[in-house]
Amino acid sequence: MKEDGRPGFESFERVCKDEPWFEAYRITSDIFVIHEPRHYEGTTLTLIIGTQVALLIDTGCGIGNLRPLVERLTDKPVLVVNTHTHLDHLGANYQFDNVAMFDHPVTRRIAEHGVSSTEYQFEILCDGLVEGPLPEHFDAHSAILQPFTVSRWLQDGDQIDIGGSQLEVLFTPGEAVDNFCLLDRYRRILCSSDIVLLGGVWSHLPGGNVHDLAKSYQRLMVHFDDFDHIMPSHGPTWLDKDLLPEMLAGVQAVLSGASKAVSCTDPWGRRFQNHKFDCFGIQIR
Ligand SMILES: [Zn+2]
Repeated sequence: MKEDGRPGFESFERVCKDEPWFEAYRITSDIFVIHEPRHYEGTTLTLIIGTQVALLIDTGCGIGNLRPLVERLTDKPVLVVNTHTHLDHLGANYQFDNVAMFDHPVTRRIAEHGVSSTEYQFEILCDGLVEGPLPEHFDAHSAILQPFTVSRWLQDGDQIDIGGSQLEVLFTPGEAVDNFCLLDRYRRILCSSDIVLLGGVWSHLPGGNVHDLAKSYQRLMVHFDDFDHIMPSHGPTWLDKDLLPEMLAGVQAVLSGASKAVSCTDPWGRRFQNHKFDCFGIQIR
């Protein structure tokens, strides 16, 4: 059903159209995505509704009022899972009671201390990142990432039971030190966080490592027969799984020297080498 023309989302029914900051789409009868189109990050949150629990994968930049929107999409208790600790994935954690994160020292530090207003302003609100007006409830001057309580610390290989199905935690560093993907064999989807997506993989950020990224792609390839679609944490969703072997070949070309890079600067002033392929890029320092 075509409802909205946004590239990458035009095949899906847009729901809750009066929501001022996010755009929500129904992907299947029990999967929604919530996209943040007016922030440069273009974060895409995935909501998978089990028979007992609704799993919310990432919480975005913290600008929109996320919880009421999620509660319009499901009446199940919500478990938040953050795929890693970059700020555009954790912003609204403070609105939720149940949060599961990967057990890593970096993750534990951020959950315990949050981040300062200065860091939040730089990462989320610096010039050019937000298009159009901020929501009325959001006070940009006092915005910080508040500390939050983690109710479950995840390990590699853990299963998250949402009633009727489980999602497996696959530790996949390379863009962030604590990044993981979630494999839902029942729905045949791979929730691929920031490492398999249409766009750039930001391995030039602190904690990024292109060798780890290659190993993570190889690890995901082991499960290639277990899923059909890829649901990333940025941009368009419900991607064909053939993107994964293309990205593995891309990162191997980067490592072997077969790929040429162009020097670029990101909106935060960080220099990087961009290895550009047809529909994705591998960004390294
Ligand atoms: Zn991200």
